[in-house]
Amino acid sequence: MKTLILMGARLLAAPVLGALLLAAPAVAAVQTTASAEPSWAKAAAEIAARAGNPGGHARAKNVILFVGDGMGPSTVTAARIYDAQKRAKAAGGRYPGFEGGEENLLSFERLPRTAMVKTYNSNAQVPDSAGTATAMTTGSKTRIGVLGILPGQSAETCKTPEKMPKTIAELAKARGMGVGVVTTTRITHATPAAMYAHSPARDWEGNDRSYAPAARKSGCVDIASQLIAFPGGMDVMLGGGLARFRPESAGGMRDDGRDLVAEWEKAAAGRRFVGDAGGLRALDPKAGGAVLGLFNADHLDFNFDADRAKEPSLAEMAVFAVKKLQARGGGYVLMVEGGRIDHAHHLTNAFRALDEASELSRAVAEVLKLVDLKDTLVMVTADHSHVFTMAGYPPRGNDILGNMKPIEGGEGRIAVDAAGNALDQRGRTYQTLGYMNGPMEVRVGKKGLDSARASTDPDFLQNKAYFLSSETHGGEDVGLYAGGPGSALVTGVIEQNSLFHIMVKALGW
Ligand SMILES: [Mg+2]
Ligand SMILES: [Zn+2]
Repeated sequence: MKTLILMGARLLAAPVLGALLLAAPAVAAVQTTASAEPSWAKAAAEIAARAGNPGGHARAKNVILFVGDGMGPSTVTAARIYDAQKRAKAAGGRYPGFEGGEENLLSFERLPRTAMVKTYNSNAQVPDSAGTATAMTTGSKTRIGVLGILPGQSAETCKTPEKMPKTIAELAKARGMGVGVVTTTRITHATPAAMYAHSPARDWEGNDRSYAPAARKSGCVDIASQLIAFPGGMDVMLGGGLARFRPESAGGMRDDGRDLVAEWEKAAAGRRFVGDAGGLRALDPKAGGAVLGLFNADHLDFNFDADRAKEPSLAEMAVFAVKKLQARGGGYVLMVEGGRIDHAHHLTNAFRALDEASELSRAVAEVLKLVDLKDTLVMVTADHSHVFTMAGYPPRGNDILGNMKPIEGGEGRIAVDAAGNALDQRGRTYQTLGYMNGPMEVRVGKKGLDSARASTDPDFLQNKAYFLSSETHGGEDVGLYAGGPGSALVTGVIEQNSLFHIMVKALGW
């Protein structure tokens, strides 16, 4: 067991250490990545065992972690078909090389290394986004619903913050690197919050009236407050969730009277807040000073519904963040989340889920044009899957959002209607895409279930086997796609908290 290499703090020469401390005055000392948590050591060993792979010793200057929230394997497959069929429709039916869409690859599927990732939480077979994001950012698996704390820790641990695990962003900042978070959700939502927050409850996003006064006495503070107080300062933060930062008196949700945006701007020179896409486009990413952009009181709108005069796209935000961090110098760690794939799946609206996944692919493609895989580790993954399936035996090029049509010479016993749609045993048409569970159709009930509009109505909700108020996550493994230094560690079937250890090893800490 050669895990000791990873467990110890890296010693830095005194002049280097001094320079780091000058660059990041709020941070007392370079922190060790080590944790006594058993799952941490297991994942460190898993990655140490792979370090002998060709290219495994290369050092990364920068790390970018893309997370498609809820982007399980079936979502990736369906999204690559959707992505091609959408482009073919725009080109009047087809474009050179188009064979139906199945042959397409999303941008990140072209990265050279892949692995399968086991996503369970320390106490949950099927995980949530807080436990999974904490695994990726701290190196330890933890409980469902908690952020930046270990499985054995509770609200009490807020009184002893030094016992909480350090996040990859905290560790990077302590070493003088740039750090950033970009998301299409509220920036205080579970996935982005795992970069900077430690909270016994993922829902404690702002100090709003929904949060019990008793819990507030625990010594923990809300997630938005933790973002603006991030040790050393976060360099770029782009997403939604402004209401958690503004007091009720200014149209926000905070009941403590604080205006966190104003506090954050005042706390250091050169900080810039922007509240719409125009404001972001007017900023020079090469200018000094941190940037906070919150473009919606709540989550950003789905890409399909968004007004791009008000909200920037995920690709725009990711490109700005990378340029900003590149201009800052000193290396960086950045998380970019396509956070609303998950939300569309919870509604069983496959169209928006695939559209959001396609947008994540576009964001990765734009970022890959800006970075050099010789010095930047790029990883793309999902935090967990969904109960989303591709079914039947449709022919090549069948509309991925449309009705299931049987292939000639295939399943001969499938009955069809006059339009050639396959019929189930109750004589109903059905779609290629469906869910194991999800809300009853009444959720968008004005229209009800009508298969004829499956491929044309953006609000169509797919079929499901049983009814729950919200479709659920899926427990199967998700993909990890990687390129750049350290990506040789991305092989086989790994634990989700190993992503942290891959980043640590790639950065040479
Ligand atoms: Mg998320
Ligand atoms: Zn979810």
